[in-house]
Amino acid sequence: MTEQLNEYQGKASMEKITSLAKRRGFVFQSSEIYGGQNGAWDYGPLGVELKNRVAGAWWKEMTQLNDDIVGLDSAILMHPRTWEASGHVENFTDPLVDCKKCKIRLRADMIPDENLAAKKCPECGGELTDTRKFNLMFKTSIGPAEDSSSLIYLRPETAQGIYVNYKNIIQSNRMKIPFGIAQVGKAFRNEIVTKNFIFRTCEFEQMEMQYFVKPGTDEEWFNEWKRRRWAYYERLGYKMDHLRWHQHGEGELAHYAKDAYDIQYLFPMGWRELEGIHNRTDYDLGRHTQFSGKDLQYIDQEGGNERYIPYIIETSAGLTRNVLMTLCDAYDEEQVADKGNEDDWRTVLRFHPALAPITVAVLPLMKKDGLAELAQDIRRDLKEDFATDYDQGGAIGRRYRRQDEAGTPFCVTVDYQSKEDGTVTLRHRDSMEQLRVPIAELTARLHSEIKSYKRTK
Ligand code: ATP
Repeated sequence: MTEQLNEYQGKASMEKITSLAKRRGFVFQSSEIYGGQNGAWDYGPLGVELKNRVAGAWWKEMTQLNDDIVGLDSAILMHPRTWEASGHVENFTDPLVDCKKCKIRLRADMIPDENLAAKKCPECGGELTDTRKFNLMFKTSIGPAEDSSSLIYLRPETAQGIYVNYKNIIQSNRMKIPFGIAQVGKAFRNEIVTKNFIFRTCEFEQMEMQYFVKPGTDEEWFNEWKRRRWAYYERLGYKMDHLRWHQHGEGELAHYAKDAYDIQYLFPMGWRELEGIHNRTDYDLGRHTQFSGKDLQYIDQEGGNERYIPYIIETSAGLTRNVLMTLCDAYDEEQVADKGNEDDWRTVLRFHPALAPITVAVLPLMKKDGLAELAQDIRRDLKEDFATDYDQGGAIGRRYRRQDEAGTPFCVTVDYQSKEDGTVTLRHRDSMEQLRVPIAELTARLHSEIKSYKRTK
């Protein structure tokens, strides 16, 4: 395991990934010209495409491939009682200590026990304050007066928007248990430790699916969703030896959870949570019943009108954390023995073609002799079906490298032969193999290659 991590870190350090992300327009620091805003990041032209595709793949998996899951897009601002019912006002806290000498603020659960016991700062040896609870929810106010009646929170998770709409969705869409509701959206947490690029940020996005089941069938469904979420990552060609399960032990289990497993990913800084699968029991709907006074029981019309509060199995993934994972997973450096240039290295992002920001780049070998015009015509045709790029500047080898670094799985090169016989070369990012394909067959060929893509490196 240490060997595996060392080898990987040799290639894909967080510094390299952060710098590539900036250089190529995946992710920029928020408000950089003002010195940056901690815990917030901006997604550039390639980054927003990647994020949309990661979210799109999840959305397709959840809503298109499952007949019993529907989507929702609920508001970020919710009635403040929501967060009392959910337990966030009371329990969504980190234990914090401050150093009286160097003024650093630390999470008490992240510093060594001996420092905590001796109240000694691990950074400077100064005296630490007592541990106090720090609520992670961002507060703001709504309306013209800034008093306690105008208090409102930025949601710290998307799940509650699903729970409060569960009855609406049963009624409007005639859903029958078991069924699920999926949502992708922003969430906000006042995180104190935000290092490691976009891993832990104050503003981030989640992809959450809440699956409502009959009590007693919850364990079976919990296992089924564990299986499905694992298979999902496998299908998208992620490195499966970089994924593992972590079961929450006694002390780790959230107050509402009966059982919880995380899917962890081997990031360059080690194994970290990527997604959680939780058996939340009837806690959430029970609490919302209590706080709202509304009856949130399900009436099982096919089961003799039996009434019960459903159990909830949750799959909760970070979208922005999945983007970071996708970048780390795809990152590779390799020596390529180009013609006569043995020392040539390339950086390549081996994205699954369904996730790559640009699917196909069209490159004329030369600008002159009508090659640029022909390449533009080909690009225009491909645009309808794929995200395309066009690049006519510089040596062809350099242009391939630029596309490799952006993770573009296919390059189409237009040369003199193209004018003669209507074929182009199709270059594959991973193998760097090139073969001639008739222009008329390009679209169908690309569709079939994307569908049958298998990661080889
Ligand atoms: P952690 O222990 O890492 O703080 P958590 O257990 O509080 O996370 P959940 O509340 O279960 O996380 O949120 C579900 C998912 O949302 C996590 O698996 C993670 O992918 C993502 N997530 C949570 N907090 C953040 C954050 N501050 N920045 C980016 N992604 C986050």
